Amino acid sequence: MNAALIFHHGELDCLTLGDVPEPKPAATEAVIAVRAAALNHLDIWVRKGRPGLQLKFPHVLGSDATGTVSAVGDHVQSVKVGDEVILNPGLSCGQCEYCRRGEHSECTAFGIVGLSRAGTFAESVAVPAANLYPKPEHLSIAEAAALPLAYLTAWRMLMTRAKLIAGETVLIHGIGGGVALAALELAKLAGAKVIVTSSSDAKLERAKKLRADHTVNYRGVSDIETAVRDLTGGRGVDIVFDTVGAATWAVNFLVVRKGGRIVLCGVTTGPKAEVNIAALYWNQLTILGSTMGSHEDFRRMLQAVTAAKLHPVVDSVFALGEIKDAMAKMEHGDQFGKIVLNPHAVADTRHHTSHHRQPREQIPELVA
Ligand SMILES: [Zn+2]
Repeated sequence: MNAALIFHHGELDCLTLGDVPEPKPAATEAVIAVRAAALNHLDIWVRKGRPGLQLKFPHVLGSDATGTVSAVGDHVQSVKVGDEVILNPGLSCGQCEYCRRGEHSECTAFGIVGLSRAGTFAESVAVPAANLYPKPEHLSIAEAAALPLAYLTAWRMLMTRAKLIAGETVLIHGIGGGVALAALELAKLAGAKVIVTSSSDAKLERAKKLRADHTVNYRGVSDIETAVRDLTGGRGVDIVFDTVGAATWAVNFLVVRKGGRIVLCGVTTGPKAEVNIAALYWNQLTILGSTMGSHEDFRRMLQAVTAAKLHPVVDSVFALGEIKDAMAKMEHGDQFGKIVLNPHAVADTRHHTSHHRQPREQIPELVA
């Protein structure tokens, strides 16, 4: 079967469309025929490699997917062949102290499909059956692929970690990324007032259509401080939602209210920053780290998305063979919403030199 592979870590050039054996399900696993898979920043980290990351090459990338169950292991009862499913890509042991508390993303052996085992950028993938959930009927195939990792991450950050309540004000940095957009939709659903930032007027216009209350275009982070102080009458926001990392870290302490929360899940702009300890204790702030989510987070997220008929924003759909173009778009931060791959369209772009090309065409079946 076709899969997007790496044989070693590196830049975009190390991505290859290759042929790998069809996966077989272990006793507690199911195989899904992937109908669509979505990109995440995680895929860039996996491709580039990180200290301590040891992959078995060739490695199939990809964490998000929706598809149809095509085979199940001997002990699987939760799904059957033919079921339309989405994948919770978080892998946990089920036995450690944290799993037994229900905190699966704190598992001592926590892993992710596409990082710890072969990923979803393929025609089929084998996964633990316990990680499969029914595909929400109101979502298109592309939207269903775009949902899991981003919405799970945003749900846990806002609801489980920061404990957002109706009427609070949330600042979301860098609107346009999948997790930031999921946070916007979930925060509005929960009755929050939402301020979003971007250096792109086009992205801010689109965020307004998604019910962002205020938008801040910034050239430097001091612009964010001034704008948030103005918008909140000098008080600051209740929650800062940060997927950006080092670039926005310092300003977070200037825009959060006394007793407020800073919740973070990513380090796109770098992992190291100074902490203003004085501001932290004097203003009685809470800093909350967050990683993906538990099965309970996933179930509650899915319940909310289904009840409110939320639609994840899909930026574009690429053929599996256009993986380099798709990933280049994400690396340049050009996207608004999720970039989705269709594994059954395998146009080979190995000879293309431009990484800025727009997708040739939207694939109607996936965006319908
Ligand atoms: Zn565990």
